[in-house]
Parts: sequence; structure tokens; C-alpha cells
Amino acid sequence: MNYRGVWTIAETNKDKIKEVSFELLNRGRKLADKLGTELASVLIGNNINNDAVQELIYRGADKVYLISDPQLENFIVENYANVLESLINEYRPEIIIAAATTSGRSLMPYLAVRVNAGLTADCTDLDIEEDTGNLLQTRPAIGGNILATIKTPEHRPQMATVRPKSTRPNSKDEKRTGEVINITLKPELIDGRVERIGGKKNEQEDVNIQDADIIISGGRGLKKADNFDLIRELVKHLDGVIGASRDAVDRGWVSYPHQVGLSGKTVLPKLYIAVGISGAIQHLAGMKTADNIIAINNDPEAPIFKVADFGIVGDLFEILPMLNEQLAKEAKVDEI
Ligand code: FAD
Repeated sequence: MNYRGVWTIAETNKDKIKEVSFELLNRGRKLADKLGTELASVLIGNNINNDAVQELIYRGADKVYLISDPQLENFIVENYANVLESLINEYRPEIIIAAATTSGRSLMPYLAVRVNAGLTADCTDLDIEEDTGNLLQTRPAIGGNILATIKTPEHRPQMATVRPKSTRPNSKDEKRTGEVINITLKPELIDGRVERIGGKKNEQEDVNIQDADIIISGGRGLKKADNFDLIRELVKHLDGVIGASRDAVDRGWVSYPHQVGLSGKTVLPKLYIAVGISGAIQHLAGMKTADNIIAINNDPEAPIFKVADFGIVGDLFEILPMLNEQLAKEAKVDEI
């Protein structure tokens, strides 16, 4: 099969590259190095500034395929898939990875069908098989009880979406150089049937626990919805955001966008405080790679302590009020 190179699909927010695109470059760089091939990023949009394009190179891309056109200003899956399909047919990459974001999850299945390729969604790990060079695509399966590794030996390109925050972004090296290939949009790639008329922001999008540096999560140990006020107060003092276990979400104490874990979000904050959360495997899957984990739980055997850097064994209804009181005092001293 005459396919070569690893591609990542970059995403932008206004004229900035989204952090998740640098996470993909971290994954992509390792794959490309193992295969001894080049790593390219595909960037589709409009009015993308040079600094943004350069940053993809500083963060690990050898090449950037840039397709910038007013008709590509908004993400319309038909148009973006048409553009990518035409690039795949021309350049024949062997691996394409995108983020498992709303746009990545819409685009990649659409594209996989078009190019007759397989797709593994929501991978948490990627590697290259030594003997064959096949992409090993690992993702939780059967309710998170096993990790399944999937390969696509018969088809190219091999395609996967990757869970945001399941790895760190590649660091920036301003000495790196690379090539930018400007591609002119062919008019026939725009699907005239589809037009963007307007957009309304989903209120749930206001809660973005995945970008937070500090998350304080509550679980069933809080006993009832009102007790989440203890978490809210701590969140205010520490300038963090609220997270939750699925149990707390299922009971309606907190809304779903706050859920951390396998069927919620994967997070990578500097500080994660788990309050009254046992540390079930599905919860750990979403937070165990946080830089610092503090657990507060009255059961010394709770599995959360196995991943915690600091543990407080005790009653959260004693500990949180004390902590909030102390932080309030310190805030007052700071004001004086
Ligand atoms: P519990 O396990 O009941 O733990 C409560 C903890 O609070 C206990 O450890 C207890 O010791 C402590 N506690 C009680 N009272 C106090 C007190 N006064 N002071 C201090 N500590 C106290 N779960 C998720 O979180 N996220 C997911 O995304 C997720 N996805 C799932 C997907 C699937 C397919 C399945 C099957 C399950 C999933 N789960 C998920 C559910 C998961 O298995 C657990 O049921 C859930 O995480 C438990 O939530 P919890 O820790 O809040 O509750």
C-alpha cells in the first residue's frame, strides 16, 4: 500500500490554534518518529494568521497543509470532509488523527466512510506495532472494564480520534522549522446544499472543566444537593471549577458537563481535589493524570487514596467548613 506520513487535524478557535491540536502533535510526533516518516498538520479555516501556522511547526509538525478560504470560515462537516478527502487522495497519508471533540467526532466518521477506512473513536493511547507498522489504537471498552487495542491492517489511511487531555500538549521549540503548503480551495469542494445561517451558544459550553487548572469534585459522600455549597465555597476561594462523580450527576446534584470520568470528561488540571469520591476505575480514568491530587474521604481504604498525592482521612463535613473558614480568613488578611 503506497501510503506514507502521519497527519493531525488542527482545530482553531477564532484565529488561535486550540490546545488540543498540540496534544495531537505530541501523539503524532511519537508515531511519525517510530515509523521514520514525517508529521503533517492539516489546518482548514479562514484568515488564519501566520503565527498560528508557525506554532504548529514549533510544536512538532514537519509540514502544514493550509487551506484558508472565506467559504471555510465555519465548520461545515460536508465541506471540511470534501477538502480532506481530496487531500487524502492526492497525498495519501497512512495515519490521520483528530481530536474527539464535537467537530472531530462529526468529521472523522463522515470522512472514514468516504475513503473506505476504519475509524477508532475516543482513543486514550496510540502506538505502532513493531513488526507490521500498523497503528495500535487503544480505547476503553465494555463499560471501561477493559482496554481494547484495535488495528486496521487491511485499509489505509488508519484513522482515529483521540480523547482531549489524554496526553499533554507538545512543548514549543521555536528553533524547529518546517514547510507550509498553501492549498487553493477548489470551488467544487463546497457543498452548495449546506449553508450556515447562524448559531446559538449551548449554555452548557460555559462550563469547561477541561481547561481548568483547579478542579474540586464532589461525590456521593456529600449526601445531598445542598451540600454541594461546601464545594462551591471552596471553588470560590481557590478560583477553580466544580467537578463531580457520575453518582453525584445521576442524582441531579450537579449537571452533566461537570462529570469527570469515563462517560464524562477527561481532565488534566494542576490540582484536583476529590471530596467524598470513592475512586471507582471509571472516575479515575478521567482524572488520574492530574498534576496533584488531594483526596478527602472518611474511608482509609477508598481506592482514590491510591492515586492521591495527599490524602485526608476524615469527615468532609468537618474538614470542608474548616478549610473554607481558614481560606476566608486569609482572603481578609490579603485585603487589608
Ligand atoms: P461512591 O462510590 O458511593 O463513593 C462515595 C465515597 O464517599 C465513599 O468512598 C465514602 O467513603 C465517601 N464518604 C461518605 N461519607 C463521607 C464523609 N462524611 N466524609 C468523607 N467521605 C465520605 N463514575 C464517574 O465518576 N465518572 C464516570 O464518567 C463514570 N462512568 C461510568 C461508566 C460506566 C459504563 C459505568 C458502569 C460506571 C461509570 N461510573 C462513572 C460510575 C462509577 O463506577 C461509580 O459508581 C461512581 O464513580 C461512584 O461515585 P462516588 O465516588 O461519588 O460514590
